[in-house]
Amino acid sequence: MNRAVISAVQGLERVARVKLQKIDHIGIAVKSIDQALSVYEGVLGLKPAGLEEVVDQKVRVAFLPLGDSEVELLESTSPDGAIARYIEKNGEGVQHVAFRVDDLEATLARLKERGVRLIDEKPRYGAGGARIAFLHPKATGGVLIELCERE
Ligand code: ZN
Repeated sequence: MNRAVISAVQGLERVARVKLQKIDHIGIAVKSIDQALSVYEGVLGLKPAGLEEVVDQKVRVAFLPLGDSEVELLESTSPDGAIARYIEKNGEGVQHVAFRVDDLEATLARLKERGVRLIDEKPRYGAGGARIAFLHPKATGGVLIELCERE
């Protein structure tokens, strides 16, 4: 390839590639946050930094900071919530991995351009004041990936 072609290809890659900043948090589906804390706090020594209910997602969330990231415990507030359905199907455990991005809207646009299947095409409200969007697990080898932008 000549130099012009190479630089055009690199330009395209730069435009199309998504830049992840770090693992923001790991989301763990639990039946009861109180019960789960006996392990995460009582045994593993993580300290809960906050508790929030996200009404439209039918979920209660506890944040346990660890280094530069967090563990997010998710408890359903309704039998028909996404977390309740997840636990019914898979049992308790890791439900999603969240990556921090700088510009969620631009990242979603790039992914869409590349034909990546998204659950959320537009950012929505996430616990802790974040803006979040999920990629479809069918597009990511079975892992539910959340993209997360924070102020
Ligand atoms: Zn999350």
